[in-house]
Amino acid sequence: MRHLLSIEDLDRAGIERICERARSFADVARRDIKKVPTLRGRTVVNLFYESSTRTSSSFELAAKRLSADLVSIKSAGSSVDKGESLQDTVATLTALGPDAIVIRAPHAGAAQLITGWTDAAVINAGDGKHEHPTQALLDVHTLLEHLGRLDGKRIWIVGDVLHSRVARSCIRAFGLMGAEVTVAGPPTLIPRGIEELGCAVSYTLDDIGEADVVYGLRMQRERMNGSFVPSLREYAIHYQLNSRRLNPRQLVMHPGPVNRGIEISPETMDGPSSLITSQVASGLVVRMAVLYEVLAGGERPRSGRGDASSGATSPASIGEPA
Ligand code: ASP
Repeated sequence: MRHLLSIEDLDRAGIERICERARSFADVARRDIKKVPTLRGRTVVNLFYESSTRTSSSFELAAKRLSADLVSIKSAGSSVDKGESLQDTVATLTALGPDAIVIRAPHAGAAQLITGWTDAAVINAGDGKHEHPTQALLDVHTLLEHLGRLDGKRIWIVGDVLHSRVARSCIRAFGLMGAEVTVAGPPTLIPRGIEELGCAVSYTLDDIGEADVVYGLRMQRERMNGSFVPSLREYAIHYQLNSRRLNPRQLVMHPGPVNRGIEISPETMDGPSSLITSQVASGLVVRMAVLYEVLAGGERPRSGRGDASSGATSPASIGEPA
């Protein structure tokens, strides 16, 4: 795989391969020395034009655990603040010879766009409301660890689907893994035609008892340029994930950050069925596996710089300390 821009870049075998490799990196994470030499001599640039805690920190740690050199740039405090365009920023960074650029941007299609401006591998860490493929991969990994398989499992994705790149990536990834996906929320927050991604739609939570997994989404107020619900209080009355609506055998997920007490109640968020902390832990090992996949796992023709796999440490050396 040359880039990871969308879950559409993967098939089921590709997702399983990344999750399998993430499992081997989880073994490394349990050792005293958690670093391996797999990407020694490689350079990763994290370019974040939107706020991030989980994704940026786990990509940073993932690159460091694999022994890559790392540069992290946030738009605040960089030349973007001085008016530099995305194209000029990417050209500047490309002059430093990165092997991979991890990008988060508020515009749908930004990750795809920059593939035309750099010969580095590009990983989409969230582009507007389009896709967030590594989130979906870490969610699949988390579920495989808890359930073994996703085939035939019913997964409900609840909340602000309209503004959610996570929903778009997760519907695709869960579907490829054999799950039956339903998206639920107020009609104003469910995009028309979303069924084409391979999910059912419900405007109420009346049948949520059928779900094996319930995945809550944040109300993304930063992307709302109007009023989509009468009030957050009213939204919570009808759509909040809480112990009144869910039964204890249903697994609960959320990509974070959470608006505690709005889309999910504190007791459900912190309860025994919540996988939210496991999702964060999966983020590290899955992002290590994704960096491995684009930098060392396959064919990467690079003009003038040789095949990227030629200098990378082999998969067999994953277990060796750096
Ligand atoms: N962290 C996820 C994202 O960047 C979900 C969210 O922000 O609500 O899309």
